[in-house]
Amino acid sequence: MRILVTGGAGFIGSHLARRLVREDHEVTILDDFSSGRRDVIVHPSVSFVEGDVRDAEVVERIVGDMDFVFHLAAVVGVRRTLRQPWDTITTSTVGTVNVLRAVLRKGCGCVVASSSSMYGKNVHVPLAEEDDVVLGNTHLGAWTYSYAKAAEEVLCRAAWQDFDQPVKVVRLFNVVGPGQGEHLGMVLPRFVGQALRGEPLVVYGDGGQTRTFMDVEDAIEGILHVWRQGDWGAAYNVGGTEEVRIVDLAHRVVAQLASSSPVEMLPFQLAYGRDYEETMRRKPDLRRLRALGYRPRYTLDQMIRRLADDQKEGGL
Ligand code: UDP
Repeated sequence: MRILVTGGAGFIGSHLARRLVREDHEVTILDDFSSGRRDVIVHPSVSFVEGDVRDAEVVERIVGDMDFVFHLAAVVGVRRTLRQPWDTITTSTVGTVNVLRAVLRKGCGCVVASSSSMYGKNVHVPLAEEDDVVLGNTHLGAWTYSYAKAAEEVLCRAAWQDFDQPVKVVRLFNVVGPGQGEHLGMVLPRFVGQALRGEPLVVYGDGGQTRTFMDVEDAIEGILHVWRQGDWGAAYNVGGTEEVRIVDLAHRVVAQLASSSPVEMLPFQLAYGRDYEETMRRKPDLRRLRALGYRPRYTLDQMIRRLADDQKEGGL
């Protein structure tokens, strides 16, 4: 198939593109290279188009040649979404409208990447697909990304409902793995980098907040399971199994990498500014995904090891 991956130069998109090429598909990547890199994949079956998903003409032109679309392009990273709220919300809303319109015109299908952030501060454990979205005030920058992802999902549901559009949504939970740089600020690559350099691991807040990490290889498996067997019009959690407190994660990284780094605490407000509000728990209910035959393979310790090996080799 000829497949478009928007955001395909980014961390998750590039792993997906590599996997699709291994399965003999022709992959086109649309990326503005704001956080992704052109040299993440060099392969004769992969071509790059530099462009913005907010540009309807570009999206329309590329999708016209495609058999399927994976729409991953988004502004990511807590600091970036706090600094660039306009880009965050318009890339998700305008970008997703453009992709859905072009896909509808072309008559092909589409998988759209959402995020566990769309559940907001709902601390129900585990979070099931039909659980409530609980977002903070629109005036707080902390929630811009969550609103952006929730809007993408509402657009997908509306397109499915009003136009019978073949679209499915994956809600990704804290994906980590090789090729994930520290520059976007995600906690695990940062902790691993800090531990390897012997610097303090900086835990935000009291570290009692939890996350459930998933290796990017498992994320790709989950996305492909949904692509092949998921219901059109449905959303699927794609995530890991081990819920961990961030302070425990820091100590685990230090122990596993035999690092001499101390673990330090930093109040959220000093880390992210006054506009920030933390999500205290996040663990997915995976029953819907497991029903498609999906089984996550990597343990948290293996994820830490893979990130450390990747950083020692200088990353991608
Ligand atoms: N975090 C931290 N130190 C860091 C970066 C993040 O303690 O250097 C915390 C952050 O406050 C959050 C968790 O780690 O509680 C996960 O942060 P990340 O940005 O990776 O993902 P998200 O908050 O979007 O789930």
